[in-house]
Amino acid sequence: AADEGFDPEEVGDAIEAAGHGPLPVVAVVGRPNVGKSTLVNRIIGRREAVVEDRPGVTRDRVTYEAEWAGRRFKVVDTGGWEQDVLGIDASVAAQAEYAIEAADAVVFVVDATVGATDTDEAVVRLLRKAGKPVVLCANKVDGPSGEADAAYLWSLGLGEPHPVSALHGRGTGDMLDKVLEVLPQAPAQTFGTTVGGPRRVALIGRPNVGKSSLLNKVAGEERVVVNELAGTTRDPVDELVELGGKTWRFVDTAGIRKRVHLQQGADYYASLRTAAAVEKAEVAVVLIDAAESISVQDQRIVTMAVEAGRALVLAFNKWDTLDEERRYYLEREIETDLAQVSWAPRVNVSARTGRHVEKLVPAIETALAGWETRVPTGRLNAFLGELVASHPHPVRGGKQPRILFGTQAGTKPPRFVLFATGFIEAGYRRFIERRLREEFGFEGTPIHISVRVRE
Ligand code: GDP
Ligand code: GDP
Repeated sequence: AADEGFDPEEVGDAIEAAGHGPLPVVAVVGRPNVGKSTLVNRIIGRREAVVEDRPGVTRDRVTYEAEWAGRRFKVVDTGGWEQDVLGIDASVAAQAEYAIEAADAVVFVVDATVGATDTDEAVVRLLRKAGKPVVLCANKVDGPSGEADAAYLWSLGLGEPHPVSALHGRGTGDMLDKVLEVLPQAPAQTFGTTVGGPRRVALIGRPNVGKSSLLNKVAGEERVVVNELAGTTRDPVDELVELGGKTWRFVDTAGIRKRVHLQQGADYYASLRTAAAVEKAEVAVVLIDAAESISVQDQRIVTMAVEAGRALVLAFNKWDTLDEERRYYLEREIETDLAQVSWAPRVNVSARTGRHVEKLVPAIETALAGWETRVPTGRLNAFLGELVASHPHPVRGGKQPRILFGTQAGTKPPRFVLFATGFIEAGYRRFIERRLREEFGFEGTPIHISVRVRE
């Protein structure tokens, strides 16, 4: 392959870059107004502020990809929430809890010009309990004169405070170096320590679609549920559920069961919780209320799971209430509104009657199998060779870009790198993805395709 103009070292680097697998997660937590959103913007290199001034504005997006010193990771931004009826301490605690749960490392932001408050102390207690690596960010240190303020924060007992000006960028590089130092290479909680253990399932969906009912149904009344597996006391929010003769770990179920009703910011909590569950899971079961029209919110939740690179199952609930007309319209809606995930296995269930609930297991297993599929390089290239010969890329500007060879750089989800002689158009990439799916399955999994062009 190298004789086709690609330097073998370049090929190796491209494969390594594409095969990174799931990224570790950094959560940014702290009181309102300490500068979390400003800091997140700086970390992800975004210019416009994400801060919404209006209360109650839905912010679905809470995780972002970032890169520092050549390493990629995800950032969970908890800056978009509103203080609610629970009062400031409880609401700070709630958002921090969800974020910490999903994270592999935490950046705890304190306003150095204010100093440590009781609320900050409360977050420190949560951080201690969680036992995840913490980097203390003493924000709003805009110049050397603020350094003394930062030093006071040693009193929090979280080690060295890193003086930072999120607004101007001062000190953020040093702080990020520290974050990378403590951040594990891969999200250990999801993929490292649990190899061979129960598979992790996130049951997600907008409020009232029936998550809690379905969980109760599958877990049974008496609940074959143990909240503590030997040696993994860290995740009291997960439940082990026997289903189809196997044990599954339903992650972040506390939020489903507790059903905390919040006023302002409730949507934001829901998004944060969904993101946290998705990060921790291998497969997402997105529950959709089949009795109602598929909503933008349903689509966003599906997108969240896809963008996180998790295996996906679509479960349409409340099937007991559907008449023929609704069934007809639902099919049309699925074709148009969920076309981008036409590869996801689908089950039609009723949490109320138990209809087809047992079909969830084969669907989940199919999705996980697709997610872990690896295509041998020889087979892939035989396939690509035939594809390129029978359906060449359209000629553009007198040139015809050609795919020379490809390889699967990683799994969970499957990631491919293709090496080409010129720019490959989006339409042709989609065509390749479609054909890859036809040929190799990949049911229930997103797939990533990146293209390297020979210089
Ligand atoms: P959040 O609620 O924690 O997400 O805080 P924001 O990022 O919305 O910031 C709250 C306010 O603090 C905004 O007016 C920011 O411009 C300001 N701010 C954030 N970082 C800094 C900083 O490093 N220095 C100064 N002087 N102000 C900052
Ligand atoms: P969650 O907010 O997603 O956890 O939803 P819940 O489990 O609390 O369910 C919301 C409402 O839908 C409740 O009134 C449930 O009784 C009802 N519900 C849930 N599943 C079904 C179902 O399969 N059929 C019918 N008819 N109602 C359901």
